[in-house]
Amino acid sequence: MKKRIRIIAEKIIEDSFPLLKGKRILFFVIYLRFFGFSAWIPPFMRIIVFSTRTKALDDFALTGIMAHELCHQERYILLGVPRYLKFIVSYTFSDACRTAEERATDRLTIEKGYARQLYELTLITHNDKKHSNIIDNYLTPEEIRSYAESIGKWNITA
Ligand SMILES: [Zn+2]
Repeated sequence: MKKRIRIIAEKIIEDSFPLLKGKRILFFVIYLRFFGFSAWIPPFMRIIVFSTRTKALDDFALTGIMAHELCHQERYILLGVPRYLKFIVSYTFSDACRTAEERATDRLTIEKGYARQLYELTLITHNDKKHSNIIDNYLTPEEIRSYAESIGKWNITA
């Protein structure tokens, strides 16, 4: 599974994340209720954790998760250390902050050209009871489609 994840990450970074090229990212696969998360321990520790539950997903949906997680990593780099540390505190304690971050990350995922993969993934999470308590933090399938159409990213795939 780790190898599969790494191959997908390499392709997406090469195609769409110039800022992450040459940066080391550690991948872990552990049991999580939801599908994955990203963390940065400044300056050099970049971590993306996938749930063992993602093993059942095909490469298309897995690409949706990976593109979303890499968008978090790019956003963290652009924040810089002081603002990132403040962000971590807000993210931990504020549901509004979590929602703002996840929705901005979904929008960036679409801007990068991964609307179809994110849409596919979101259809899965919307049918999954284990995601029901966090689903409101993310764009809905309809929002993904209409945002992608509005910026001309629906009929192309990265
Ligand atoms: Zn996220």
